[in-house]
Amino acid sequence: MPSHGNPQPLVQDILQQLEIDPDDICKVTKRFLQQIKEGLDHPRPWQLPSYVFHVPDGSEKGTFLAVDLGGTNCRICLVDLLGNSTYNVTQTKQTVPEHLRINPRYQPLFSFIAKALREFLDQHELRHQIDCPTGSKRIPLGFTFSFTCEQTSISKGTLIQWDKGWDIPEALGKDPCAMLQESIDEMDLPVLVSALANDSVGTLLSRAYTSQDQGSTLAGVIIGTGTNAAYLERSCNVRRLPNTETKPMHDTIVLNTEWGCFDDDLKVLPITPYDRELDASSINPGQQQLEKRVSGMYLGELMRLVILHCHERGVFNMVLDVDSPCNCQYGIDSSFLSLIARDRTTESWDATKDIERVLSARGVTPDDARILTQLADSIARRSARLAGSALGAIIIQSERLSGPVSEKCAVEVTSLPNDQNDKQRPKQPKRICGLLSRIGDYFKRFIYSLTKKRSVENESLDQGSEQNFIDIGVDGSLIELYPGFEAHMRGALRDIQEIGPEGEKRVRMGLARDGSGVGAALMANAAT
Ligand code: ADP
Repeated sequence: MPSHGNPQPLVQDILQQLEIDPDDICKVTKRFLQQIKEGLDHPRPWQLPSYVFHVPDGSEKGTFLAVDLGGTNCRICLVDLLGNSTYNVTQTKQTVPEHLRINPRYQPLFSFIAKALREFLDQHELRHQIDCPTGSKRIPLGFTFSFTCEQTSISKGTLIQWDKGWDIPEALGKDPCAMLQESIDEMDLPVLVSALANDSVGTLLSRAYTSQDQGSTLAGVIIGTGTNAAYLERSCNVRRLPNTETKPMHDTIVLNTEWGCFDDDLKVLPITPYDRELDASSINPGQQQLEKRVSGMYLGELMRLVILHCHERGVFNMVLDVDSPCNCQYGIDSSFLSLIARDRTTESWDATKDIERVLSARGVTPDDARILTQLADSIARRSARLAGSALGAIIIQSERLSGPVSEKCAVEVTSLPNDQNDKQRPKQPKRICGLLSRIGDYFKRFIYSLTKKRSVENESLDQGSEQNFIDIGVDGSLIELYPGFEAHMRGALRDIQEIGPEGEKRVRMGLARDGSGVGAALMANAAT
């Protein structure tokens, strides 16, 4: 349908609806911070304890298997942790077929994984070759399972809910490690599922393992099919955990925020008619509201709904074929947004051919391409700014802007007057332990900084003293591949009053390559 009238007011209106100004960012961050605190105080399906109490320091060693079940793919990895912050990984990847992602029964999915594991062991002749760290005959396996689980130990958990379009009702309330072990045992494989790892926890651990500035890694952030983050919290703040065992023994604990569900009651998240439509026709209406505005699974669909809305109102000159992916739910992948954004950054900007090909459209004009690019940019920018806002809430909660987490914990643990554990926990020795461990930490960091090679690949450009950095490991195709995603996240961090431009400069984000696989191996190491 040819464009009639002036399309600009309609397009401008949509762009405006997708804009989140600095005031909104502050409101959203405040709300997320409120939820973070609520999840520390009460059992909620977010702020989930991972039972990982320390982040690695790069000295961890051993050979481990890892299974990484993401929103789209299943990776099988063999990870050799070499003990000097480096590792070797061998891996295979298979896409999980839709009939296994949506199935009344759990067995088909877990047999699929066990079969892939068997092929991997056979292909690499691994059945008898690995020296297991515990002398056991079974190879320890860390299982990265990227769905919401309430854990009761490092190797046990209960699946609370599916997301990212998955739905296997029989698995709800069951332990993912036990379900996987069942299928592994049926195939008689010499493998022991010894750790349950969320992908964001894995990303944090693997970033800390490879980071040269020990103690600077605060969080792991995933922005791929789904979105989530894990961070290091002071144990004394985690009031939802029974006090008696863990808290006196460990200053810190890694929490899986499950931030995709933040503000599910929509108190502050921006909402457009496209968000409403996407939510209403999704498999889980009313849930995962942040995820539905941020993650790779949904950005393509938001773009599709916006395109259809504009197309029906004669904004474009282009004609969509009947079998255009615009006419099919989830027909547009979020890589389309990256594709046209990347086209714009090249000198001879011409996205028309890419648009014709991906959308099955004819007669795309430069004007159409310009409008589509603006729309894609706004959707991705909103996603990145909301992710920045959520990260900002974690940074504020960590109080890292005024010192490293271990110091804060040492101070807070000893100064809590009404802590129920006061009677069990001798105050003075704890304070001395904190001091000694800090001196030890600084000494270790000094030695470490003398011996460690710098790895440039995983770092942003801004460098400085380790004391100043707040290091964030990131993973996922969207954050990695959408041009300028990190820059938009940083823009949001600058907009947050408590962080501002000075605080934002101290945040270093870097890809945690092989985050989930290496992270799962590190968890398996922690469990042995
Ligand atoms: P997983 O989340 O399964 O571990 P990824 O991190 O690769 O896997 O994320 C896959 C998601 O990323 C899919 O939703 C896909 O649409 C999206 N994606 C893949 N490539 C790109 C890209 N170039 N730009 C934006 N999104 C992308």
